[in-house]
Amino acid sequence: MKRLLVAAVGVALLALQAGVSAWGMDVHRLITRHAIDGLPADVKPFFMARADFITEHSVDPDLWRVPDLSGRLGNEDPNHFLDFDGFGEPAPFTNVPREWDAVVKKYGADMANKNGRLPWRTEEIFNKMVSAFGDMQRGTPSYAADNVRYLAAVLAHYVEDAHVPFHAVVSYDGQATNQRGIHSRFESDLVMRNKAAFKLAPVVITPVPDLRAFIFDTLIADQPYAAAVLAADKKATEGRELYDDGYYADFAKNGALGVAEQRASQAASAVASVWIAAWEKAGKPKLPDDAPRPPARIRR
Ligand SMILES: [Zn+2]
Repeated sequence: MKRLLVAAVGVALLALQAGVSAWGMDVHRLITRHAIDGLPADVKPFFMARADFITEHSVDPDLWRVPDLSGRLGNEDPNHFLDFDGFGEPAPFTNVPREWDAVVKKYGADMANKNGRLPWRTEEIFNKMVSAFGDMQRGTPSYAADNVRYLAAVLAHYVEDAHVPFHAVVSYDGQATNQRGIHSRFESDLVMRNKAAFKLAPVVITPVPDLRAFIFDTLIADQPYAAAVLAADKKATEGRELYDDGYYADFAKNGALGVAEQRASQAASAVASVWIAAWEKAGKPKLPDDAPRPPARIRR
Protein backbone atom coordinates (compact mmCIF):
# COMPACT_ATOMS: atom_id res chain seq x y z
CA MET A 1 0.00 0.00 0.00
CA LYS A 2 2.76 2.32 1.07
CA ARG A 3 4.68 1.49 -2.07
CA LEU A 4 1.60 2.21 -4.17
CA LEU A 5 1.21 5.57 -2.49
CA VAL A 6 4.85 6.43 -3.13
CA ALA A 7 4.36 5.43 -6.77
CA ALA A 8 1.24 7.60 -7.00
CA VAL A 9 3.06 10.59 -5.55
CA GLY A 10 5.90 9.96 -8.00
CA VAL A 11 3.49 9.96 -10.93
CA ALA A 12 1.84 13.15 -9.65
CA LEU A 13 5.23 14.86 -9.37
CA LEU A 14 6.19 13.74 -12.86
CA ALA A 15 2.91 15.06 -14.19
CA LEU A 16 3.53 18.40 -12.51
CA GLN A 17 7.02 18.49 -13.91
CA ALA A 18 5.77 17.75 -17.41
CA GLY A 19 3.32 20.62 -17.19
CA VAL A 20 5.68 23.06 -15.54
CA SER A 21 9.15 22.47 -16.88
CA ALA A 22 10.75 23.39 -20.17
CA TRP A 23 14.06 21.76 -20.66
CA GLY A 24 14.44 20.00 -17.32
CA MET A 25 15.95 22.44 -14.84
CA ASP A 26 19.32 20.69 -14.85
CA VAL A 27 19.37 20.84 -18.64
CA HIS A 28 18.69 24.59 -18.56
CA ARG A 29 21.69 24.94 -16.22
CA LEU A 30 23.86 22.76 -18.48
CA ILE A 31 23.05 24.78 -21.61
CA THR A 32 23.45 28.17 -19.91
CA ARG A 33 26.83 27.20 -18.48
CA HIS A 34 27.98 25.96 -21.92
CA ALA A 35 26.89 29.29 -23.45
CA ILE A 36 29.01 31.22 -20.91
CA ASP A 37 32.03 28.98 -21.54
CA GLY A 38 31.76 29.64 -25.28
CA LEU A 39 31.64 33.45 -25.16
CA PRO A 40 34.31 35.50 -26.98
CA ALA A 41 37.07 37.21 -25.00
CA ASP A 42 35.63 40.73 -25.01
CA VAL A 43 32.60 39.78 -22.90
CA LYS A 44 33.59 36.44 -21.34
CA PRO A 45 35.31 37.71 -18.15
CA PHE A 46 32.17 39.63 -17.10
CA PHE A 47 29.98 36.55 -17.55
CA MET A 48 32.54 34.16 -16.01
CA ALA A 49 32.68 36.28 -12.84
CA ARG A 50 28.91 35.83 -12.58
CA ALA A 51 28.64 32.33 -14.05
CA ASP A 52 27.19 30.58 -10.99
CA PHE A 53 24.49 33.21 -10.52
CA ILE A 54 23.49 33.29 -14.21
CA THR A 55 23.49 29.49 -14.49
CA GLU A 56 21.35 28.99 -11.40
CA HIS A 57 18.84 31.74 -12.22
CA SER A 58 18.34 30.56 -15.79
CA VAL A 59 15.62 28.27 -14.37
CA ASP A 60 13.72 31.10 -12.63
CA PRO A 61 11.03 31.70 -15.27
CA ASP A 62 9.84 28.11 -14.82
CA LEU A 63 9.47 28.78 -11.10
CA TRP A 64 7.42 31.92 -11.83
CA ARG A 65 4.79 29.58 -13.31
CA VAL A 66 4.23 27.91 -9.95
CA PRO A 67 2.68 30.93 -8.17
CA ASP A 68 1.32 32.00 -11.61
CA LEU A 69 3.02 35.40 -11.73
CA SER A 70 1.74 37.85 -14.31
CA GLY A 71 3.72 40.25 -16.49
CA ARG A 72 2.90 42.84 -19.13
CA LEU A 73 1.64 40.23 -21.59
CA GLY A 74 -0.37 38.23 -19.04
CA ASN A 75 0.21 35.20 -16.82
CA GLU A 76 3.56 33.43 -17.02
CA ASP A 77 2.68 30.04 -18.46
CA PRO A 78 2.14 30.99 -22.15
CA ASN A 79 5.43 32.91 -22.17
CA HIS A 80 7.28 29.59 -22.54
CA PHE A 81 5.98 28.25 -25.84
CA LEU A 82 4.45 28.97 -29.23
CA ASP A 83 2.33 26.14 -30.60
CA PHE A 84 2.83 27.14 -34.21
CA ASP A 85 0.54 24.40 -35.55
CA GLY A 86 -2.34 25.57 -33.34
CA PHE A 87 -3.59 28.37 -35.59
CA GLY A 88 -4.95 26.11 -38.33
CA GLU A 89 -2.41 27.48 -40.82
CA PRO A 90 -0.26 25.37 -43.17
CA ALA A 91 3.47 24.90 -42.44
CA PRO A 92 5.80 26.78 -42.53
CA PHE A 93 3.23 29.12 -40.94
CA THR A 94 3.96 32.21 -43.03
CA ASN A 95 0.31 33.21 -42.53
CA VAL A 96 0.78 33.58 -38.76
CA PRO A 97 1.49 37.29 -38.12
CA ARG A 98 4.74 38.12 -36.34
CA GLU A 99 3.22 41.09 -34.46
CA TRP A 100 1.44 40.18 -31.22
CA ASP A 101 -1.38 42.71 -31.77
CA ALA A 102 -1.96 41.29 -35.25
CA VAL A 103 -2.13 37.72 -33.87
CA VAL A 104 -4.74 38.80 -31.31
CA LYS A 105 -6.70 40.62 -34.00
CA LYS A 106 -6.63 37.69 -36.42
CA TYR A 107 -7.33 34.78 -34.05
CA GLY A 108 -8.77 36.42 -30.91
CA ALA A 109 -7.07 36.85 -27.53
CA ASP A 110 -8.12 33.40 -26.25
CA MET A 111 -6.52 31.46 -29.09
CA ALA A 112 -3.49 33.77 -29.19
CA ASN A 113 -2.75 33.22 -25.49
CA LYS A 114 -3.57 29.51 -25.68
CA ASN A 115 -0.98 29.01 -28.43
CA GLY A 116 1.64 30.93 -26.50
CA ARG A 117 3.76 34.08 -26.55
CA LEU A 118 7.39 32.90 -26.47
CA PRO A 119 8.76 35.16 -29.29
CA TRP A 120 7.25 38.32 -27.82
CA ARG A 121 8.27 37.50 -24.26
CA THR A 122 11.85 36.79 -25.41
CA GLU A 123 11.89 40.13 -27.23
CA GLU A 124 10.56 41.91 -24.12
CA ILE A 125 13.39 40.56 -21.96
CA PHE A 126 15.96 41.18 -24.71
CA ASN A 127 14.94 44.87 -24.81
CA LYS A 128 15.28 45.10 -21.01
CA MET A 129 18.78 43.64 -21.26
CA VAL A 130 19.75 46.15 -23.99
CA SER A 131 18.50 48.93 -21.76
CA ALA A 132 20.40 47.58 -18.70
CA PHE A 133 23.58 47.39 -20.82
CA GLY A 134 22.81 50.99 -21.87
CA ASP A 135 22.66 51.97 -18.18
CA MET A 136 26.14 50.49 -17.74
CA GLN A 137 27.34 52.53 -20.72
CA ARG A 138 26.06 55.69 -19.05
CA GLY A 139 27.36 54.62 -15.66
CA THR A 140 23.90 54.79 -14.05
CA PRO A 141 22.35 53.36 -12.06
CA SER A 142 25.10 51.70 -10.04
CA TYR A 143 23.26 48.37 -9.97
CA ALA A 144 23.05 48.13 -13.79
CA ALA A 145 25.61 45.31 -13.88
CA ASP A 146 23.46 43.31 -11.44
CA ASN A 147 20.44 43.89 -13.66
CA VAL A 148 22.39 42.71 -16.71
CA ARG A 149 23.38 39.45 -15.01
CA TYR A 150 19.80 38.69 -13.96
CA LEU A 151 18.34 39.57 -17.35
CA ALA A 152 21.05 37.41 -18.98
CA ALA A 153 19.80 34.47 -16.91
CA VAL A 154 16.12 35.11 -17.72
CA LEU A 155 16.80 35.70 -21.42
CA ALA A 156 18.80 32.45 -21.58
CA HIS A 157 15.76 30.57 -20.29
CA TYR A 158 13.37 31.73 -23.00
CA VAL A 159 15.93 31.31 -25.81
CA GLU A 160 16.55 27.75 -24.57
CA ASP A 161 12.82 27.01 -24.46
CA ALA A 162 12.54 28.03 -28.13
CA HIS A 163 14.85 25.10 -28.99
CA VAL A 164 12.65 22.42 -27.41
CA PRO A 165 10.56 20.85 -30.19
CA PHE A 166 7.68 20.22 -27.75
CA HIS A 167 7.44 23.96 -27.03
CA ALA A 168 6.48 24.52 -30.66
CA VAL A 169 3.61 22.08 -31.23
CA VAL A 170 0.04 21.72 -29.93
CA SER A 171 0.61 18.08 -29.01
CA TYR A 172 3.28 19.22 -26.55
CA ASP A 173 3.10 16.03 -24.48
CA GLY A 174 2.32 13.47 -27.19
CA GLN A 175 -1.37 13.59 -26.30
CA ALA A 176 -2.48 13.51 -29.96
CA THR A 177 -0.69 10.21 -30.64
CA ASN A 178 -1.12 8.45 -27.29
CA GLN A 179 2.51 9.12 -26.32
CA ARG A 180 1.84 11.06 -23.13
CA GLY A 181 4.85 11.98 -21.05
CA ILE A 182 7.11 12.42 -24.10
CA HIS A 183 7.79 16.02 -23.05
CA SER A 184 9.78 15.16 -19.92
CA ARG A 185 11.04 11.80 -21.27
CA PHE A 186 12.77 13.73 -24.05
CA GLU A 187 13.86 17.06 -22.61
CA SER A 188 14.73 15.92 -19.10
CA ASP A 189 15.01 12.17 -18.41
CA LEU A 190 16.78 11.25 -21.66
CA VAL A 191 19.37 14.02 -21.24
CA MET A 192 20.01 13.39 -17.55
CA ARG A 193 20.38 9.62 -18.10
CA ASN A 194 23.06 10.37 -20.72
CA LYS A 195 24.59 13.36 -18.96
CA ALA A 196 28.13 11.97 -18.74
CA ALA A 197 28.32 11.33 -22.48
CA PHE A 198 26.01 14.16 -23.59
CA LYS A 199 27.73 15.93 -26.48
CA LEU A 200 27.44 19.69 -26.74
CA ALA A 201 29.00 21.18 -29.86
CA PRO A 202 31.30 24.20 -29.45
CA VAL A 203 29.41 27.50 -29.23
CA VAL A 204 29.19 29.37 -32.53
CA ILE A 205 28.34 33.09 -32.37
CA THR A 206 26.05 34.28 -35.17
CA PRO A 207 24.63 37.77 -35.72
CA VAL A 208 21.04 38.25 -34.49
CA PRO A 209 19.86 41.42 -36.24
CA ASP A 210 16.17 40.74 -35.47
CA LEU A 211 15.55 38.84 -32.23
CA ARG A 212 11.86 38.15 -32.79
CA ALA A 213 12.46 36.82 -36.32
CA PHE A 214 15.27 34.66 -34.93
CA ILE A 215 12.94 33.06 -32.36
CA PHE A 216 10.24 32.47 -34.99
CA ASP A 217 12.80 30.80 -37.27
CA THR A 218 13.95 28.61 -34.37
CA LEU A 219 10.38 27.50 -33.62
CA ILE A 220 9.84 26.63 -37.30
CA ALA A 221 13.06 24.59 -37.25
CA ASP A 222 11.72 22.68 -34.22
CA GLN A 223 8.77 21.18 -36.11
CA PRO A 224 10.45 18.20 -37.85
CA TYR A 225 12.39 17.40 -34.66
CA ALA A 226 9.15 16.88 -32.72
CA ALA A 227 8.06 14.33 -35.34
CA ALA A 228 11.47 12.58 -35.21
CA VAL A 229 11.37 12.28 -31.41
CA LEU A 230 7.80 10.93 -31.47
CA ALA A 231 8.86 8.30 -34.03
CA ALA A 232 11.85 7.29 -31.85
CA ASP A 233 9.55 6.98 -28.83
CA LYS A 234 6.97 4.92 -30.72
CA LYS A 235 9.59 2.45 -31.87
CA ALA A 236 11.17 2.21 -28.40
CA THR A 237 7.83 1.46 -26.71
CA GLU A 238 6.97 -1.44 -29.04
CA GLY A 239 6.63 -4.60 -26.92
CA ARG A 240 7.30 -2.69 -23.68
CA GLU A 241 5.08 -1.90 -20.72
CA LEU A 242 7.59 0.22 -18.79
CA TYR A 243 9.79 3.21 -19.47
CA ASP A 244 12.78 1.27 -18.15
CA ASP A 245 16.49 1.29 -18.94
CA GLY A 246 15.86 -0.70 -22.12
CA TYR A 247 13.30 1.83 -23.30
CA TYR A 248 15.69 4.76 -22.74
CA ALA A 249 18.54 2.92 -24.48
CA ASP A 250 16.33 2.31 -27.54
CA PHE A 251 14.83 5.81 -27.41
CA ALA A 252 18.36 7.27 -27.50
CA LYS A 253 19.53 4.88 -30.23
CA ASN A 254 16.47 5.57 -32.39
CA GLY A 255 17.61 9.17 -32.77
CA ALA A 256 16.16 11.04 -29.78
CA LEU A 257 19.54 11.58 -28.13
CA GLY A 258 20.99 13.02 -31.33
CA VAL A 259 18.08 15.45 -31.55
CA ALA A 260 18.51 16.47 -27.88
CA GLU A 261 22.24 17.07 -28.41
CA GLN A 262 21.58 19.06 -31.58
CA ARG A 263 18.87 21.26 -30.02
CA ALA A 264 20.81 21.81 -26.77
CA SER A 265 23.96 22.73 -28.75
CA GLN A 266 21.98 25.11 -30.94
CA ALA A 267 20.39 26.57 -27.81
CA ALA A 268 23.76 27.31 -26.20
CA SER A 269 25.03 28.99 -29.38
CA ALA A 270 21.80 31.00 -29.59
CA VAL A 271 21.98 32.14 -25.96
CA ALA A 272 25.57 33.37 -26.38
CA SER A 273 24.69 35.03 -29.72
CA VAL A 274 21.64 36.79 -28.27
CA TRP A 275 23.63 38.11 -25.26
CA ILE A 276 26.25 39.50 -27.68
CA ALA A 277 23.50 41.03 -29.84
CA ALA A 278 22.08 42.84 -26.77
CA TRP A 279 25.54 44.09 -25.79
CA GLU A 280 26.24 45.34 -29.33
CA LYS A 281 22.84 47.02 -29.62
CA ALA A 282 23.58 48.94 -26.41
CA GLY A 283 26.83 50.27 -27.91
CA LYS A 284 29.23 47.67 -26.49
CA PRO A 285 29.60 49.12 -22.98
CA LYS A 286 32.83 48.35 -21.18
CA LEU A 287 32.21 45.40 -18.89
CA PRO A 288 33.92 45.03 -15.50
CA ASP A 289 35.56 41.63 -15.26
CA ASP A 290 35.41 41.37 -11.48
CA ALA A 291 32.72 39.72 -9.40
CA PRO A 292 30.19 42.19 -7.90
CA ARG A 293 31.57 44.01 -4.85
CA PRO A 294 29.70 45.78 -2.07
CA PRO A 295 29.19 49.45 -3.02
CA ALA A 296 31.32 52.11 -1.31
CA ARG A 297 29.64 54.26 1.34
CA ILE A 298 28.52 57.60 -0.06
CA ARG A 299 29.94 60.58 1.94
CA ARG A 300 28.52 64.04 1.50
ZN1 LIG B 1 10.37 27.54 -19.61
